[in-house]
Amino acid sequence: MATERTLSIIKPDATKRNLTGKIVAKFEDAGLRVVASKRIHLSAATAGEFYAEHKARGFYGELVAYMASEPVVVQVLEGENAIAKNREVMGATDPAAAADGTIRKEFALSKGENSVHGSDSPEAAAREISFFFSGLELVG
Ligand code: ADP
Repeated sequence: MATERTLSIIKPDATKRNLTGKIVAKFEDAGLRVVASKRIHLSAATAGEFYAEHKARGFYGELVAYMASEPVVVQVLEGENAIAKNREVMGATDPAAAADGTIRKEFALSKGENSVHGSDSPEAAAREISFFFSGLELVG
């Protein structure tokens, strides 16, 4: 197993309900380390660019509006197998299908307002980390 970095976003439904600390604790308890972190309020344009791969999907407009509705916390998580580990801790997209103990099972409100984002491949992680952070901001 290799040490990896992945991009995590604590989404508007979670920051709004003051769940940032509880969610970060889940990552840390799973052995992931926060090596970069910032709270930002995305514009619709920036949220739309970040999720450009979903442009053709029916929920794209709703997703962009939601991601720009309240602040988010963007973080880089580091650890052994971090990309898959983070996805495991997050749980399935739809909280109704998410496993017990996962963030989405515990906190998500719906398939759209599902509390967290995590990169789904090494290519996505590299793109998404550089979308939000410069190399100088990553402190392992
Ligand atoms: P994941 O975040 O689990 O990788 P996707 O990449 O399929 O899931 O979708 C990206 C995000 O788009 C989801 O996390 C969710 O916020 C939103 N989304 C996905 N499917 C739907 C849907 N059917 N209705 C509303 N929002 C959705």
